[in-house]
Amino acid sequence: MSVQDLPLQDALQNYFGFSKFKGNQETIIQTVLDGRDTFVIMPTGGGKSLCYQLPALLKEGTALVISPLIALMKNQVDQVRGYSENDQVAHFLNSSLNKRQIKEVREDTAAGLTKLLYVAPETLRKTENIEFLKQINISFVAVDEAHCISEWGHDFRPEYRQIRKMIDAIGSRIPVVALTATATPKVQTDIVKNLGMEDHRVFVSSFNRDNLFYEIRPKTDKDTARKEIAKYAVQRKGQRGIVYCLNRKSTEEIAELLRVNGIKAAPYHAGLEAQRRARIQDQFLMEEVDVICATIAFGMGIDKPDVRYVVHFDIPKSIENYYQETGRAGRDGLPSECVAFYSHQDILKLEKFMRDKPVAEREMGGQLLQEMVAYAETGMCRRQFLLHYFGETFSAEECAKNCDNCRHPKERIDVSADLVLMLKAAKATEGRANIPQLVNILRGRATRDVEAAGYQELPEFGQGAEKDERYWNSVLRQGLLQGFLHKGVENYGLIRLTDAGAAFAAKPKPVELALNHDFPSEAAAAEENGHATRAVLDEELLNMLKAERRKVAKKHNLPPYIIFQENSLEDMATQYPVSTDELANIAGVSKGKAMRYGRPFLRVIEQYVEENGVDRPTEIVMRSVAKKGGNKIYIIQNIDKKIGLDDIASAKGLTMDQLLEEMETIVGSGTKLNMDYYLEDILDEYQQEDAMEYFRSTEIDDVDAAYDELKEEGMTMEEVRLMRLKF
Ligand code: ADP
Ligand code: MG
Ligand code: ZN
Repeated sequence: MSVQDLPLQDALQNYFGFSKFKGNQETIIQTVLDGRDTFVIMPTGGGKSLCYQLPALLKEGTALVISPLIALMKNQVDQVRGYSENDQVAHFLNSSLNKRQIKEVREDTAAGLTKLLYVAPETLRKTENIEFLKQINISFVAVDEAHCISEWGHDFRPEYRQIRKMIDAIGSRIPVVALTATATPKVQTDIVKNLGMEDHRVFVSSFNRDNLFYEIRPKTDKDTARKEIAKYAVQRKGQRGIVYCLNRKSTEEIAELLRVNGIKAAPYHAGLEAQRRARIQDQFLMEEVDVICATIAFGMGIDKPDVRYVVHFDIPKSIENYYQETGRAGRDGLPSECVAFYSHQDILKLEKFMRDKPVAEREMGGQLLQEMVAYAETGMCRRQFLLHYFGETFSAEECAKNCDNCRHPKERIDVSADLVLMLKAAKATEGRANIPQLVNILRGRATRDVEAAGYQELPEFGQGAEKDERYWNSVLRQGLLQGFLHKGVENYGLIRLTDAGAAFAAKPKPVELALNHDFPSEAAAAEENGHATRAVLDEELLNMLKAERRKVAKKHNLPPYIIFQENSLEDMATQYPVSTDELANIAGVSKGKAMRYGRPFLRVIEQYVEENGVDRPTEIVMRSVAKKGGNKIYIIQNIDKKIGLDDIASAKGLTMDQLLEEMETIVGSGTKLNMDYYLEDILDEYQQEDAMEYFRSTEIDDVDAAYDELKEEGMTMEEVRLMRLKF
């Protein structure tokens, strides 16, 4: 009995050690074994690789695997080798190999030892490689990440368009297996057409990821969003997460903000050295880093099962991108969250980026972006919206309240009359108008293209003028969702009336619709936000804390503001800290100070909270990254007030070293700083005198030399620098 005759299940167990096929892997594999062209559409993590790996091992000859990323090829080959006894079973052929290595690959392949040969499309453009492959018995060609073929996908690679030509050059009638995780109907037709697939079978797995929670939050302004993300991550400390940003600077800023708040975070973007990137990626896999703040350069091919959340600081360019990126959460099937921040401003920015692109690309990009906007603003079930976008029918009940809109439903209204109006407009335009045009027709807006097509003559023109754009967009979406309208695939984006739509228009039934979100403009939101988050100061507690401060100050024989400054007390009377850790998060309070003076204050707060049944804010108090500049005045004023240097440093988020540097520039620019109050605390008279003596006597102004001399007196570098400042 040859291996081919083994039941597939046994082969799976034999070669991969898996006991069951996932989803429809088995039928797919059988189809590939039968030599049919096969198109596999399966979400990320669904197990596509096995669909060509197992047939490759079972079939005679060598399977050619075309994969876009040279960087991941080695990884994929290693993975296959890991299941096998020898390394010859899988090889890759790409520009990273030297002559000797290429020779080895060719020999193993020619000898029939290699069952899987991974190649980049570039490799297939070289005549010598084509000539070589002509002599090989190719079992089939697998095109992984096949969406790269389509300009409508999210990773278009022009080389992918040449694949058919190259396969034909290698041999005739070689079966093709295309695999992708992203296939909108448009991308699907592109792939089939471009690969010239014939009599092929298509396998579409559901794209539903029922363990993912989808949420869109308004991005009122960048700073607030950053803080919100930090808060979010702090609440999930110890969990893995990815924060996606569109630019490098944001990745750096957010990673920094997370770090100062105790999260193990790192930035990741194309501007970092390859080595550094590889290290960060490793650290993420090894769990030395919990949160990666990345541009889209991160994630392709990373199979980390326990990513608990994916946050989009910037809204992605398309739903494909969004789905791909959110798809990296929760591969292990456990509940995970996907939160995206959305603002009109960001959309305008993305549109601006596209302005310099060629017209066709710009048009395409614009439409993809509009879909993203529609998703962000929709009031309907997000899962339903996403799955419908990928060509699946799905009812909102199946979502199990696992998206923000299902969890907090919007007001629903009956829109059947308006839906009929929309259907009439679609009928009248005979499938030649797109979404914005239809909306403009109903609103009675004679834009250039509406006018050019003569649509202002239609009876529907202006019939819905009293309702706004958002509303009509919602109605139109509902029409698409119900199958009353159809959006063109070939002539992308044009809307036509379906038979079901015509039937509905003739005999309408009630249709309920959740209205779309009305995201406030940035300025309006910022204002609202300012009012909403203005701290609620508890005057009663504040007075109690002030009294306590007087008591403590008296006991230590110190002026009260040395114990805690006014703003610190106010912050306490707002945040109600009850532990030293929480106290250390209060404005102007260092860890040291919290420990030294904190206890009686905490007792006061705790008692107060208990007696008055105060609902303490569960919000985590955020530390923010120190702003450069701005510090100097603060430092001068607070040294004047005789505030401890460690408190000043902590209030500004500076290290002692950074504070000293700031102070050195202040003194260097001629401003006097009187730090005697602090020096008295840390050095005795004799040490101070010795230091002054030294600085008076020496000719060279060199801190290191001074330290060498003065460390004999038991002084630290910090103290030496302070004495030099004083001098
Ligand atoms: P995709 O390419 O579709 O994103 P992969 O092929 O990388 O997914 O597979 C995702 C994960 O699922 C891998 O860790 C793989 O080993 C695992 N896997 C695939 N098929 C099975 C199976 N039948 N049983 C168990 N695990 C599987
Ligand atoms: Mg894959
Ligand atoms: Zn839902």
